[in-house]
Amino acid sequence: MHQQIDLPMYMALQILTALGTFLLMEAWAWFMHKYLLHGPLWFLHKTHHRPQKTWWEWNDLVSLLYGVAAALCIMHGIENQAYTLGIGAGIALYGVVYFIFHDIIIHRRIKIRYRFESSYINRLIRAHKMHHKHLGQNPSEAYGFLYATSKYDVKRTGNS
Ligand SMILES: [Zn+2]
Ligand SMILES: [Zn+2]
Repeated sequence: MHQQIDLPMYMALQILTALGTFLLMEAWAWFMHKYLLHGPLWFLHKTHHRPQKTWWEWNDLVSLLYGVAAALCIMHGIENQAYTLGIGAGIALYGVVYFIFHDIIIHRRIKIRYRFESSYINRLIRAHKMHHKHLGQNPSEAYGFLYATSKYDVKRTGNS
């Protein structure tokens, strides 16, 4: 027998799961970055801290793995009407936002000339630039991607 599902409720819970996963992903990414990428996985991550001759960095392999994990979760979730769908969607959403912020807005891997007025975006850019000031494995700072403390606020000088 197939159980009848309450569709609006099901959708709402899936969306909540995706949003929760998105938030947890920032915490997870911070943890990964600090303890694994700047730890045992430094051999991959150092390709991101040092200039490379190619557009591809071995560090990108990490993002690729998240993509595979998201796809597997989504497929499993659809097939089984399970919350792995929301989890996979959350991971995928984080990946897209991460790519836009980290790879385009901060590192300009796709050339854009836009200067951002948002103080929050400028804070994130400054925090990540501080992270990249350190060329070695340790120490570094500001391991987050979509959240940085007000310590990294860009102080406006002159007018305004
Ligand atoms: Zn790093
Ligand atoms: Zn970076």
